[in-house]
Amino acid sequence: GAGVVADSLVKTYARGARPVTALAGVDLAVAGGEVVALVGPSGSGKSTLLALLCGWESPDSGVLSYTGPLAGRRPETLGWSELALVPQALGLVADLPLADNVLLPARLRGDAAAAGPRAGDLMAGVGIGHLAGRYPHETSLGEQQRAAVARALLLHPAVLLADEPTAHQDRGHADRLLDALVAAARAGTAVLLATHDEQALDRADRVLAMRDGRLGPRTSP
Ligand code: ADP
Ligand code: ADP
Repeated sequence: GAGVVADSLVKTYARGARPVTALAGVDLAVAGGEVVALVGPSGSGKSTLLALLCGWESPDSGVLSYTGPLAGRRPETLGWSELALVPQALGLVADLPLADNVLLPARLRGDAAAAGPRAGDLMAGVGIGHLAGRYPHETSLGEQQRAAVARALLLHPAVLLADEPTAHQDRGHADRLLDALVAAARAGTAVLLATHDEQALDRADRVLAMRDGRLGPRTSP
């Protein structure tokens, strides 16, 4: 399967009086089939790393690449079946019901009808099957987050990046979300989660710790 590789990524935000080095040389490889969790204090660079890995930001130096069937591709050319995101801000479309939000990646490529059953299964699996017709503002933040995860999983993405995907969940719903993410990995997806959630760390194949823009093995808390 495909994976994502970061090699010596450096990113400094120059806004304001003092530049902030968010990433100070990050090496990372996530392979298809594994769930990697990224932990670290707030401000340590986790979101910046995800933003680089999906092409929202570009590095000052270092190289981001994809492997396997995605070798040689640039992030901005990847569709939802290749690179799927669960951003911290979720990114649901406000004037589409939850089911249409979940179906959006399929609709963008003109096969929403074919993806309907999978969308329904995913929504039921994460506990929003009864909310298909609700608009995002008629649902809780936790329910919106579950829709964002279902949407990311819809097209069996090669790589899935999720920022705190269980942040707004109770234990039971967090478990169902993690079940869905782990199942995707077992089917070949490379899954990278930024998370503080012990439940998520327990389900990860590997846990990496981010501190001051550097990545290392996890030290005991
Ligand atoms: P985390 O996700 O671990 O909380 P971030 O990647 O959001 O960490 O932030 C890393 C550092 O970069 C922090 O010092 C943060 O203030 C800074 N930073 C992040 N995004 C920006 C931005 N758009 N402009 C300026 N500084 C930023
Ligand atoms: P592919 O069939 O190559 O996977 P899609 O048909 O899934 O491509 O994607 C269609 C369009 O949807 C993309 O060109 C892009 O504009 C948008 N898109 C795809 N993936 C994402 C994503 N992860 N985040 C935001 N927009 C996306």
